[in-house]
Formats: sequence, structure tokens, C-alpha cells
Amino acid sequence: MQTNKIFLGIDIGGTAAKIGLVNSDGDILEMDSFSVSFDGYQTPIIETVVKNTDIFLKRIGTSVENLSGIGVSATGQINVQEGTVAGSAGHIANWLGTPVKTILEEHYHLPVTVANDANCAVMGEQWKGAAKDSRNVIMITVGTGVGGGIIVQDQLLSGSVGIAGELGHFTIKKDGIPCSCGNTGCYESYASTTALVRRVKELSDTLSDTDIDGRYIFRQAAEGNQKILKILDEWIQDIAVGLIGLIHIFNPETVIIGGGVSQQEELFICPLKEKILKKVMPCFRENLHICAAELGNNAGLLGAVAFLKKHENLK
Ligand SMILES: [Zn+2]
Repeated sequence: MQTNKIFLGIDIGGTAAKIGLVNSDGDILEMDSFSVSFDGYQTPIIETVVKNTDIFLKRIGTSVENLSGIGVSATGQINVQEGTVAGSAGHIANWLGTPVKTILEEHYHLPVTVANDANCAVMGEQWKGAAKDSRNVIMITVGTGVGGGIIVQDQLLSGSVGIAGELGHFTIKKDGIPCSCGNTGCYESYASTTALVRRVKELSDTLSDTDIDGRYIFRQAAEGNQKILKILDEWIQDIAVGLIGLIHIFNPETVIIGGGVSQQEELFICPLKEKILKKVMPCFRENLHICAAELGNNAGLLGAVAFLKKHENLK
């Protein structure tokens, strides 16, 4: 008989972190969230996380001995072997190089795994969301940037140090827009919500910049604004171009689109699906399922635990 183990999931984002008790079936039993940026990162994120984890466990009356391990989803590029922060967005102070795994293992004396947040999201969706029963999955998260994660034959594609799946930064346009990563023409410069907003702003001379965001754009599109519909179509085309290439490389059963815009079924997911299916080779189309993410903000937390379970062979 399978005993139901209890795990701790921690999802560390750039501004806030989420913490939850998760059982073997993937049910979230208790959850809490807290800011990690309250003092501009003067208190290192990991210190805030440890302090709030202690408070959380005390509040819910769970002792460390009852836990089977800690799965961490973290912002930045994560070396999964070492459980360290290998790369980080420049604005987060006191984060790059943090030995997250070692600090938590020494504090709690439990097995700890750490993986990048986009990689955890795809693991979460495979465990409890849109990709259940799929062994080959690609997920992109469309937001300020583009994040990604790839599962190949039931294993997270992690690369030599665990930072594979940076789907925002493959080149889709030669001599294209300069990217924050130092390259030009990166996928995220065309496929992110930021890129969509930029294109609409370039068109508009009557609206102030602050009026235009993803919600505004989709509202206008729903009302039939032809100029916006044209830009939206071009943007979806760029997203499709990247995904078509990935589908031909990885032959997935499921492609998941995450991020706030993925809730736009009619105006985004449906046309995206159509554009992809039109261009992929027929034999790649047969088993292919393209859909919106299902877990929303809980994907990272659940995926962190899914990764821990798989990595540590905990059922
Ligand atoms: Zn880039």
C-alpha cells in the first residue's frame, strides 16, 4: 500500500514566494505567500524564505520530521546538480550564486531539489495539469518575457548543468531586436506580451503608454479593432514560428501555453493552434495536442514537488 507522504514546495519568484504542503497525490493541503522584495532584496531572498518557512510550519503545526523533502522552484537560471543560482536577472540583489540547496538541507536536514521556475511549471502541468499522461511536453510561458520547459521521454530536459530549456532565447530573426541577454532577434523579443504591447504602442499616437497593456489589447481585439487584430495576428504568427521549430525537434504529444494571455481561448489559443497545425509536417500533427496551461499560479509549486519526487525517487 502506498503511504501518502507530505512534501514542502517553495516557489520563489522575483517579488514574492509561495510555500505549500503537498501530498503524494499532488493535493495542496496548506499554502501561504510572502514578499521577498520588501526591502529591495537587502535581506537576501534565501534568508526571507527560511524565516517564513519556519513561521509557516509553526503556524500549521507541522514539524520537519513529518516532511519527506523540499522541492524548490526558483527564479533565474538554476544549476540543478548543485542547487545554486547560476544566472539571475540583474535587478535582484543578493541572489546570484546563492547555494539554495545546501542552505535548506543544512537547516532542515531533508532532501532538497532546486529547479528553474519555468522548468517546474512544465513538471507541474505534467503531474496535475494540462499534460497528464504525456511523456513529451513543451511548455512556453508568455509574459514579460518567454519562459520554457521541455520534457523528453518523461524526463525534464536539463542539459549539462540544468539550465536547458531557455526557450525565450533562441534566435528567430537575423539582425533582429537587441535582447537583454546580449544577443539579437531572440524569440522572447517577438513572442512575449511585452513584444505585443511594444508593437501596439508603435502604432498608436493617441493613447498614453500607460493605457496599453495585454488586457487593453485583447479588449480592443474582441471589439473588432482591425489595426489591433492585425498586430495580434502577426504576433501569434511569430509565436507559432518558434513552436513549429520546437515541435519538429522534439515531437511532443502536448504543447502547453502558459501566462495570463493563455486564458484568451478564442483570440489567442485557437488561432495559434491553427497556425501551428497548418505548418507542421503531417506526421508530427497526429498525436499533437496544443492547449492552455491549467494550473495557473500553482504550477511552479506543484512542479517543484514533482521534480523532487522524481529526482529523489520518492513516490
Ligand atoms: Zn535573448
